[in-house]
Amino acid sequence: MSRITIHGRDFVPFLSAEAIDATITELAAELTKDYRDKKPMFIAILNGSFIFAADLFKKLEFEAEICFIKLASYKGTASTGHVITAIGLDVPVQNRHIVVLEDIVDTGKTLNSFLPQLHNQHPASLKLCALLHKPEATAYPLEIAYTGFSIPDKFVVGYGLDYDGYGRNLPSIYQLADN
Ligand code: 5GP
Repeated sequence: MSRITIHGRDFVPFLSAEAIDATITELAAELTKDYRDKKPMFIAILNGSFIFAADLFKKLEFEAEICFIKLASYKGTASTGHVITAIGLDVPVQNRHIVVLEDIVDTGKTLNSFLPQLHNQHPASLKLCALLHKPEATAYPLEIAYTGFSIPDKFVVGYGLDYDGYGRNLPSIYQLADN
């Protein structure tokens, strides 16, 4: 892994593909322990979580369903603060055990606006699983039951996460360089 440039900004290696894979194996083991007999529904939030969701889902050793929704609150490297639902939830969640999969929790605003919508549909349980969490940036109250990595409050790309559209295909995660 070496330094890369996207849209003229420099990014440095941060989390290797191997480290991500090992952490996802651990998350899958925890989920397998907690949900083995519950036939949960995973709700993955697009776009950023598509690679995380796929890799995690492949490692689950029990019956589970997955669906995808799209919410957007981000442009460039700063949150716009607007949450927009572009693709709605089209599966019933009532009486289901729900696990929401998110690539990264930053301010927490996105999930803080979305999770009450799910609560209103009376799931049997509702938990959050995030690959990355920036605790210093989180300003909205959120309980993350399953966290892959707690990371500093710096912009990251790769492994599904983009910088204005690019970088999602990188197999590892890079952090914005200080320069
Ligand atoms: P929040 O609502 O928690 O502030 O933001 C959540 C969303 O913002 C994430 O799902 C992701 O799309 C985007 N986001 C937050 N931090 C980063 C980051 O460091 N890199 C990238 N690429 N997206 C981020």
